[in-house]
Amino acid sequence: MVGGVCSLEELVGAVAGVRGRLEEVSRAIHVRPELKFAEVYARDVLTGWLVDEGFAVGRRAGGLETAFVAVHRGREPGPCVAVLAEYDALPGIGHGCGHNLIAAGAVAAAVAAVRAVPGHPGTIAVIGTPGEEMGGAGKVRLADAGVFDGVDAAVMFHPADRSVTAQHGLAAAHLRARFTGVSAHAAKSPWEGRSALAAAQLFLNALDSMRQFMPPTARVHGIVSNGGQAPNVVPAVAAVDFYVRDRTTASVRELVERVRRAALGAALATETEAEVSETGPLYAERRNNMVLAARFGAVVRALGLEIGPGDADEPAGSSDIGNLSQLLPVIHPYIQTAAPGTPSHSDAMREASATAFAHDRTEIAATGLARVVLDLVTDPELMAAARAEFTAGREPAGTARTLRP
Ligand SMILES: [Zn+2]
Ligand SMILES: [Zn+2]
Repeated sequence: MVGGVCSLEELVGAVAGVRGRLEEVSRAIHVRPELKFAEVYARDVLTGWLVDEGFAVGRRAGGLETAFVAVHRGREPGPCVAVLAEYDALPGIGHGCGHNLIAAGAVAAAVAAVRAVPGHPGTIAVIGTPGEEMGGAGKVRLADAGVFDGVDAAVMFHPADRSVTAQHGLAAAHLRARFTGVSAHAAKSPWEGRSALAAAQLFLNALDSMRQFMPPTARVHGIVSNGGQAPNVVPAVAAVDFYVRDRTTASVRELVERVRRAALGAALATETEAEVSETGPLYAERRNNMVLAARFGAVVRALGLEIGPGDADEPAGSSDIGNLSQLLPVIHPYIQTAAPGTPSHSDAMREASATAFAHDRTEIAATGLARVVLDLVTDPELMAAARAEFTAGREPAGTARTLRP
């Protein structure tokens, strides 16, 4: 059913009414990319818009400088539904993940929902969740700080090269293997040194040797983040920053123990010391709420955009939305904003995220999100169905919030 207290036509009109500002805000964020937890400009532009529309805005949500919570309380009690905005960029690439579209689309959805039904029940919120890229885990930090307490459901969309209502996301551990050796002159007396870089090399080779014996769904990848300081000094310190991902948190935890042993083995062979630590919280696998994903899909289809269900075998990344999806009903559909085949995290995706086409599609995404939000606050049956699905597949208590290996 595509229904509710206002017609889809009225909602389309409400979103069209904010299209100008949607594109203006999106482009402003796009040309000024900010890395995780430094998204000061994006925060100001987004909260400024929400203040103009009568939302009560709280900054520094959960103690994070660039997070915010904006709420529009309705005339009677009811559920609290949040639209999530991400707005961080990538080093060297800028908005190659299209978070400018997520952010502007999120605010547009909430503003249009309120404009369409000013007397809505419950609470319509926008939660600004900084630091999604590079293991920032902004949503995990906000959840740990209690920002999502009392939120009944959260919705967002992500730009992509195709449209799907629900896509799985891998669990991911963000790790650093740090090796410590002994420095020495690299030519006069190298035998007095013990190379931490040699340990890092051996460790990376060990990871490659292990690949065949890992589940085919696993992904292990990384960079040498410290390879020493000078060619004529035996490196006393070296580090490899890497991620371990797989379909489930349980599998990731097992793999983390195996790569930890590989680091210790590399250290043993090179007479150095190894320490494997987390550089950020573990991202949990994603649980898409299919009741809400189907509702979003129905609206998008009604607007003339074909959108399929996700493919379980499709390669996937990871997001801190996974952790949130263990706490409350969540959707994270993808809307095609770029030509098919445009890779995520690329220069091409950055360019594609600033086109008129991308903003047309973001307008459709915002309409879909606004519809789901309004239906959730006005239709107790939809809220109950979403809750029932969430509860049915819930992890045992105590595992959901902070997931650490
Ligand atoms: Zn992204
Ligand atoms: Zn990304």
